[in-house]
Amino acid sequence: MLAETAPGVAELTEILREQAAEADIEARLPEKSLAALRDSGLMGLLVPVEYGGLGGGLDDLVAIAMRLAGGCLSTAMVWAMHCQQVDAVIRHGQPRLHAELLPRIAAGEVYLASVTTEPRKGGHLLSASSPVQSTGTELTFERDAPVVTGGMAADGFLITMRAAEDAAAHEVTLIYADRDQMRIEVVGDWNPTGMRATDSRGLRLSGRVPEHSVVGEPGAFRTVALDSMIPLAHLGWSACWLGAARGVMRELTGALRNGSWTLDLGSELVRERLARVRVDLELVAGYLGQVRREVTAARRAGTSLQSPTAQIHLNVLKVAAAELTFQAADRLVQLTGLSRGYSRDAEIPVERVFRDLRSASLNYANDRLLGAIGSLVPLDRSVRLAGFED
Ligand SMILES: Cc1cc2nc3c(=O)[nH]c(=O)nc-3n(C[C@H](O)[C@H](O)[C@H](O)COP(=O)(O)OP(=O)(O)OC[C@H]3O[C@@H](n4cnc5c(N)ncnc54)[C@H](O)[C@@H]3O)c2cc1C
Repeated sequence: MLAETAPGVAELTEILREQAAEADIEARLPEKSLAALRDSGLMGLLVPVEYGGLGGGLDDLVAIAMRLAGGCLSTAMVWAMHCQQVDAVIRHGQPRLHAELLPRIAAGEVYLASVTTEPRKGGHLLSASSPVQSTGTELTFERDAPVVTGGMAADGFLITMRAAEDAAAHEVTLIYADRDQMRIEVVGDWNPTGMRATDSRGLRLSGRVPEHSVVGEPGAFRTVALDSMIPLAHLGWSACWLGAARGVMRELTGALRNGSWTLDLGSELVRERLARVRVDLELVAGYLGQVRREVTAARRAGTSLQSPTAQIHLNVLKVAAAELTFQAADRLVQLTGLSRGYSRDAEIPVERVFRDLRSASLNYANDRLLGAIGSLVPLDRSVRLAGFED
């Protein structure tokens, strides 16, 4: 697996860790970390070798996201969301877009940002309000984008648009726009509780792109979302959240082993608290691994992920990972106490990871996903649970 052999993942994680605290305080993207990612070749992890990429798969994405998140969750999310966009281009982009864009991504020249959230419709992924307009050979667009992770540093954007002036909200077209095909205006600030180093400021975007910039069929973004964007998002985010919580646990157990932190392991309460954190992490790891295998197997077999069972598993992964990793971080705050767990100046970033992980249930609202799971449950009469065939 590339994740184990890819040069420099350990060194990269170290750079991410060094940059994380200051970027968090200043709520800005850590430029040095992003530059190191661009130099590492990992921006092209999923890009096929024929375009100069590393030709990696979902196993690599999940394993590397977990490792990077142990250094800085914000930067790992920037990278995982970039990979999610790249996957959509690879699987649904037109040959001309592939030829123009994929070598640049592989060379680390293009960081791809995501624009799906929109004022009024909020996070709802499968609808859009602003229409794209066709001139016959080109598409023009104007789009408010209230939350764009790393938007100021992005070199390209995948943007959901309503398919035409007279199209319904659910007829969504996904377009690729290069930074130099657009005007970008900063319209919103970014001063949240956590995930501060993602610098997900609000932007107003407008521009003109050629017809071959449409990713997937016009009006049929749903297919791209179900095949690529949703699975990659839920796998990538969950891996990042788990990696961040595991990172803190690793640092704390390291400190216990080297004696720089002491815990009364004779106390049943302390032992239970340690165990509970481990239970949370193990459950997410097991479910993440299982859903990753399901998606990989479906891709190998060329089968769709549209069945209620597959959709339930993907959505349960996101909801469970968001809840359990935050619960683990909360328990770690309790275990480590005021000076070590709840303090911004503590050596181990328990407090930062706690704040960051609070966003997990909001970053694509768990409430929306629970609603979706609830409506799918009656359609899956077999109640086929993840990892079981019957
Ligand atoms: C760190 C971070 C990075 C992000 N990066 C990006 C990015 O790069 N690009 C991008 O486009 N977006 C991005 N987002 C936005 C994200 O994808 C969601 O759109 C956003 O978090 C949802 O915001 P919201 O909760 O205000 O809105 P909504 O999802 O509209 O929800 C508002 C409230 O209503 C509730 N609600 C809404 N619908 C339902 C329903 N059907 N059932 C039950 N409850 C419901 C929700 O629980 C929530 O409490 C990012 C968010 C975060 C936290």
